Amino acid sequence: MTDSFEELGLSPELLESIAACGYTKPTPIQAKAIPHILMMRDVVGLAQTGTGKTAGFTLPMIEILTGGRAKARMPRSLILSPTRELAAQIAENFDQFGQNSKLTKALLIGGSSMDKQIKNMERGVDVLIATPGRLIDLFERGNILLNDIKILVIDEADRMLDMGFIPDIEKIAGLLPVTRQTLLFSATMAPEIKKLTEKFLSNPREVAVSPPASTAVTVEQFLVKTDKRSKNKVLGQIIKDENVKNAFIFCNRKRDIDSLVGWLKKGGHNAAGLHGDMAQNIRTETLEEFKSGKIKLLVCSDVAARGIDVQGTSHVFNYDVPMNPDDYVHRIGRTGRAGEKGRAWMLMTPAEDKFLDAVTKRIGKEIEEKTIKGGEAQKSKTDQGNLSQKKENKQKDYKKKKSHKRDDGDDSSDVKGFGDDVPAFLR
Ligand code: AMP
Repeated sequence: MTDSFEELGLSPELLESIAACGYTKPTPIQAKAIPHILMMRDVVGLAQTGTGKTAGFTLPMIEILTGGRAKARMPRSLILSPTRELAAQIAENFDQFGQNSKLTKALLIGGSSMDKQIKNMERGVDVLIATPGRLIDLFERGNILLNDIKILVIDEADRMLDMGFIPDIEKIAGLLPVTRQTLLFSATMAPEIKKLTEKFLSNPREVAVSPPASTAVTVEQFLVKTDKRSKNKVLGQIIKDENVKNAFIFCNRKRDIDSLVGWLKKGGHNAAGLHGDMAQNIRTETLEEFKSGKIKLLVCSDVAARGIDVQGTSHVFNYDVPMNPDDYVHRIGRTGRAGEKGRAWMLMTPAEDKFLDAVTKRIGKEIEEKTIKGGEAQKSKTDQGNLSQKKENKQKDYKKKKSHKRDDGDDSSDVKGFGDDVPAFLR
């Protein structure tokens, strides 16, 4: 496996853009996938966010597409992304790496002005980045023709599955020319995804990487047992005690996001919320402000934050124990990236101990318990009360979670796990 971009066979213009981004050598997924993609092969990439997989497909795509020309309303390549935020991040990649090329791109995502997106399409685009729902919508209105697609990328296929997008993906793939190159990236290979690859990819090369050990060996994890009434106070105390530069605060419920943001702001914190019910322009703006450091605490749901890459995030707070243990892994993976130190704290009420068991099993170790002043569980009626009712509610919550929501599916749904492939940073 090569450890230089030069050896991968990329053009001098592209090498220049890569150098301008500060990348000195390819990540394992890039080193493994790029040569196959450049040879126009179909590729299945088993890799999660944080491994550099986006550049793993955007770089060779730029190389392949450079030189050709798009006709009006007939994009030459299509990247399907499960969420608007990820789609926007992929588009940023094209802007960075494509700075020396004349390639054009368009984003088709829900929540943004349809007219503007249609206008972009009409000029002809080389790269179309879309969420499945919006793409089908525009196709059915006759605004896009898909007969000239030469490369199809299905990104985060596992997430597509969780969000109920597989039928849409099948529909879209069925509308594309049969002779095309198809690339599929997924953190896991669930049976449904395997079926998808068998149906839509032709003799694909499989490349797999586990998250680099350096990503988060440095994440220290802590647990605070408390009760529902004391949660805000405990969180406030930890934020005060810790040297928080910037943090993701994950909540299981959207309604808690808004009230927690309000509470934090009242306490003088620089906080904002991010979830799927918010207007797209506000979501994009909030994310930009968090990335630029203008917002320090981002209170969010799992889907809204998934895959979002913010360099140097110092902390992750789990306001609730995630109901799906894989979400815990994704949540704490937001910090300790690129070898930096990160700290992950989780609050737990007595009612959540079942979920903690699942997390402990999933990560294969106990999380260090800490006591925070004033945060001890009060054994209140709310938390200790009618346990059978609680169990029933939990079941209901879980069932609700399983009946995947469409749109960009901000209700966190169960992410298929890493199987036995526990990331190094959790061992
Ligand atoms: P991804 O897995 O595509 O979400 O990428 C995770 C992060 O790694 C992003 O911040 C990228 O900018 C960064 N990255 C991707 N490739 C490289 C590379 N070869 N060298 C350094 N950083 C990279």
